[in-house]
Amino acid sequence: MTLAANKTLVNITRFRQDFPILQQEVNGKPLAYLDNGATTQKPQIVIDTVRDYYERDNANVHRGVHTLSARATDAYEAARHKIKDFINANSEKEIIFTGGTTEAINLVASSYGQSRIGQGDEILISTMEHHSNIVPWQMLCQRTGATLKVIPMNKHGELLFDEFKQLINARTKLLAIVHVSNALGTINPIEAMITIAHQHDVPVLVDGAQAIAHTSVDVQALDVDFYAFSGHKMFGPTGIGVLYGKQELLEAMPPYQGGGDMISVVSFSGTTYNELPYKFEAGTPNIAGVIGLGAAVDYLTNIGLDNIAAYEHHLLDTLTDKAQDIEGLRIIGQAENKTSILSFLVDGAHAADIGELLDQQGVAIRAGHHCAMPVMEFFHINASARASLAFYNNEEDITQFIAALNSSLTLLR
Ligand code: PMP
Repeated sequence: MTLAANKTLVNITRFRQDFPILQQEVNGKPLAYLDNGATTQKPQIVIDTVRDYYERDNANVHRGVHTLSARATDAYEAARHKIKDFINANSEKEIIFTGGTTEAINLVASSYGQSRIGQGDEILISTMEHHSNIVPWQMLCQRTGATLKVIPMNKHGELLFDEFKQLINARTKLLAIVHVSNALGTINPIEAMITIAHQHDVPVLVDGAQAIAHTSVDVQALDVDFYAFSGHKMFGPTGIGVLYGKQELLEAMPPYQGGGDMISVVSFSGTTYNELPYKFEAGTPNIAGVIGLGAAVDYLTNIGLDNIAAYEHHLLDTLTDKAQDIEGLRIIGQAENKTSILSFLVDGAHAADIGELLDQQGVAIRAGHHCAMPVMEFFHINASARASLAFYNNEEDITQFIAALNSSLTLLR
C-alpha cells in the first residue's frame, strides 16, 4: 500500500508544516532531515511556548512571592503533570527533571547505585547500549567493586533472550537496558525482560531516549522501575530530560546533588531534604526547557503515538525496501521488531564520505559510531551511516535520499 492510499498515514504528513526549519533549502536542495536519532526538530508551538515564557513570565520557580514567579511555577508544574499523564506515571512525585537521558542515568547510578550496589554485585546491561548506559555503570563498578555483565546479541541485532535469562541471578542488583537501539533500531522486548528481572527481585532501568517519540510508553503497564528520556528527541528543547522512578524507590534513595530547592531545612547541625520530586532537583532548573517540553507533550498527544508508530513503521519499510535495491548496501541491524532507524554501509564507500556527499544534496544523516562503539565492534566496523526517521518525514524525503545516495555512490565507487 502506498502512503497516499492510507488515510491515517496521509493525515500524519500534514503535521510537517508545523516545523519551520523543514521549510528551507540546504545547499540549493529541499532539506530532507533524516538525523532524528541525533535530535528532532521543534514545532512552532514549542518555539512559541519557550519565547512566550521569556517574553511574559520569566522568573524563578518555587521561590518568589510575586506574580511572575507564580506564573512560572504554575507552568513548570503543569508541564510535570502533562509528562506524568503522557507516560502514565502514578504521581508527579515520580517525574524528576534532569538535563537529559544521560543525566537521568547518572542520577540513578550515583544515588541508587552508590547506596544499593557493592562489592560482588552485578549490573546487567546489553551489547547494544548507548555509551550513556554503559559508562555510568562502569564508573559505578570502579567505585564499588561491582561487576558489569553484558547480554549478547545475534547478527540481526536482537538480544539473546536465553542468554539474558542465564545471566540474571542472585548477584544481579540492576538491569539497565535500552528500549530502542539508536545504532540499530531494534525494539527490545522490555516488558518480558522486566517480568523476568522482577522474578529475581531485580529493578530495571530503561533508557527510553530513542523510544519516547516513536512508541507509546506506559510505565505502570510496563511495571518499569526507572525510565529515562530526553526532551530534544521528542520535539522539545535541548538540555531537558526526565527520570521517571517508582515513588518507593525514589523515596529511599539519597539525593543526587546538594543545593537550593532540594532541601527542607538547612542548619550547620544538619540538613533535611525536601520531598519528592524536589529532593532530586537541586538549583534553578531549566524552566523554559520544562515548559517547552510540556508543549511538545501536548503536541505529540494530539497526533497520537499509535498513529506515529504505524506511520513510521510504513515509512521505514519503504526506506528499507528502496535501500536494499542498492548494490553493495548492507543494513546494520535487521531485527524483526525495529523502528525508525536505517543503519547501513556500502561496499567501497566510507560512511563519512556518504554523509558529506548527501549533505551537498540537502540530505542530513549521521555517520559515525553513534555513541555505541560496542555495537560497531560486534559488527567489526568502525562506523555506519544512519538515516533516522520522524513522523514529519515523507516519501519525498526517502526519494531524495535514495537519489542522492545513488549519485554519491557513483562518485565514490
Ligand atoms: N541513549 C540513547 C539510546 C540515545 O540515543 C541517546 C542520544 N543519542 C542517549 C541515550 C543520550 O541522550 P542525551 O544525549 O539526550 O542525554
